[in-house]
Amino acid sequence: MFETTRPTLTRRHFLHAAAAGSALLGVGMPMLARAAAPLAHMKLPYAENALEPVIGAQTVGIHWGRHHKGYVDNLNKLVVGTEFEGKSLVQVVMDTAGKADKQALFNNAGQIFNHDFYWQSLKGGGGGQPGAALARKIDEAFGSFAEFKKTFAATTVGQFGSGWGWLAMDTSGKLKIVKTGNAEVPMTQGLKPLLTIDVWEHAYYLDYQNRRADYVNAVIDKLANWEFAERNLGA
Ligand code: MN
Repeated sequence: MFETTRPTLTRRHFLHAAAAGSALLGVGMPMLARAAAPLAHMKLPYAENALEPVIGAQTVGIHWGRHHKGYVDNLNKLVVGTEFEGKSLVQVVMDTAGKADKQALFNNAGQIFNHDFYWQSLKGGGGGQPGAALARKIDEAFGSFAEFKKTFAATTVGQFGSGWGWLAMDTSGKLKIVKTGNAEVPMTQGLKPLLTIDVWEHAYYLDYQNRRADYVNAVIDKLANWEFAERNLGA
């Protein structure tokens, strides 16, 4: 099993966590010995209306500001006084996966990881063609970019109920398309995530109602951040 890294997020989380600790000191609150700083809710990498018209500002505002933030708030409460306090997000995800008595921790940590990854997987003016390194690997695995898009959309749309569609890479470097249910992550299958699409209804219902396929195809064609996916090949 490889170590999954999130170069941009890890640093951002650390800086926010450090700032939160300083704020506590600033108001004269005693710092508990070995108390871990809370995990920060990641900042959106763009404005809430940056994904319009594919995903409306109201959807992004509620999705990021309430759903995503809710998972962060929940996890920060759940870890207090446990062995998971102060562990990295990915460590919490991997150490709680598949453990029935750790389901709430896994669900919240997994959803934070997945949403952190989702916002970075999108950008206004995205879509189009991936860069050469990623395009070559896509051709190797799926025959052509057109075939890849078809399979990625069909697999993602076909997730029954809430979940995620992923472009991921196995330990031999081969690209795979997988779907995961609820808060599940690709890393527990030995896969490194490259790009994701959220297909929980909260991700698209205000804009597309029950037309999940329209949402997924529009995201792939107009919002996919292939530079992010390509960076993840080597991250
Ligand atoms: Mn979501």
